Amino acid sequence: MTDCIFCRIAQGEIPASIVERNREMVAFRDIQPQAPTHVLVIPVQHLGSVRDATGTDGEALLGRMLAFTSRVASSLSLDEDGYRIVTNTGHHGGQSVDHLHFHLLGGRQLHWPPG
Ligand code: 5GP
Ligand code: ZN
Repeated sequence: MTDCIFCRIAQGEIPASIVERNREMVAFRDIQPQAPTHVLVIPVQHLGSVRDATGTDGEALLGRMLAFTSRVASSLSLDEDGYRIVTNTGHHGGQSVDHLHFHLLGGRQLHWPPG
């Protein structure tokens, strides 16, 4: 989708601070970080949200995204102190970009419950 900002980042049409990428996923720094480490992990393929990652392929992709995100966390030295992975979904979830993404947050004490 050419009007989707995260599709454009995945295609390299909009610059982003890329942390890691493979054929199906990209990890890059959030432009408005909410923690010392704030990385977004997206699939290259456009999916609106976790609600659209359905069926065998969608569910397998979610598993690989989670594993990829935890590897990124390790490579950013977050394992010892811990971190949070979250995916805001739809209106009540506070999703503002309609391309599936996981937030990886770390580097400070995070609070619970979130607002
Ligand atoms: P959401 O609110 O949908 O859960 O998260 C969207 C995230 O994307 C926000 O944290 C926002 O700061 C980030 N974001 C929005 N536009 C851009 C952009 O152009 N580049 C980068 N790197 N992050 C963006
Ligand atoms: Zn997209």
